[in-house]
Amino acid sequence: MAKIVVVGSINMDVVIRVPHIPIEGETIMARSVQYYGGGKGANQAIAMSRLGGDVHMIGRVGKDAHGQRLYDNLLENGTKTAGVEWDEDQPSGTAYIYVSDRGENNIVVFSGANSKVDVAQINRYEHLFDDAEYCLMQMEIPRETIEHTVQVCKQKGVKIILNPAPAQPLSDQILEGLYILIPNESELDLLCPGPGSLEEKSAKLYGSGVQNLIVTLGAKGSMLMNEAGVKYFPAVPVKPVDTTAAGDSFIGGLTIGLSNKMDLEAAIQYASLVAAITVSKMGAQASLPDLAAVEAYLA
Ligand code: ATP
Repeated sequence: MAKIVVVGSINMDVVIRVPHIPIEGETIMARSVQYYGGGKGANQAIAMSRLGGDVHMIGRVGKDAHGQRLYDNLLENGTKTAGVEWDEDQPSGTAYIYVSDRGENNIVVFSGANSKVDVAQINRYEHLFDDAEYCLMQMEIPRETIEHTVQVCKQKGVKIILNPAPAQPLSDQILEGLYILIPNESELDLLCPGPGSLEEKSAKLYGSGVQNLIVTLGAKGSMLMNEAGVKYFPAVPVKPVDTTAAGDSFIGGLTIGLSNKMDLEAAIQYASLVAAITVSKMGAQASLPDLAAVEAYLA
């Protein structure tokens, strides 16, 4: 099994249930407050660890109660945390998610310690990349850290998988030579604004030097564009219960498939199965399946 390094965010998701979304100046009472581990980096690391991956996280939490819970949560799920540091100044990253009785939501994210995952931290853990085969990143940490990590990976021959979420313009320095770029449909639209079909926009992005572009298409499945052309992969049909973390579990499943020596198409099919199991359950990290759940599904 190949070693995977994740460089990314670790957040506490604070879910606040309210009768209605408060308007400016309004004070209301919450119905409940619940705390969940989150952040795209941690979600994807945990998705892969539950599937048996050799996963090493580089990230940052605050020296606070949330930080301890988030750190323990990674460890309990089997993610290696030698590259996770505690920040003296910034609190842990936090997402405040207001959910109304009508199901509307409002989200406020505070990056906190994630904003201090810097070039110096990557350099302190450069040895983690020495025998790694894949590096998985998202965009909830500073862009210069991503650019620097791309250079380290190129020097060491580590294949980079980038999930450009939340979407923001990507420099040529990041795109050139990426092994896989994997946006969802709305991220593709933000990266390639203006008119054009899915394939036209994808071709534009693929033309910037990535080796494989995979666009996830929700219940419609996913699309792969590479030198062999364009290929569509259907979603695995399930009764959707909660699609939260569909993307994170797909990316985790994909990377695990590859680290288990599947070819790219087989890894996409495996990812589709892992994501389908995730959408058939409630919750974000709570719905990410382990190996036993995937095997039970196949039985
Ligand atoms: P999220 O932001 O909710 O984590 P996303 O927008 O990043 O998700 P999607 O493109 O919605 O990601 O979904 C990722 C993958 O999950 C899809 O390519 C598909 O394989 C699977 N998937 C999503 N929704 C469904 C569904 N309703 N049924 C089966 N599979 C699904």
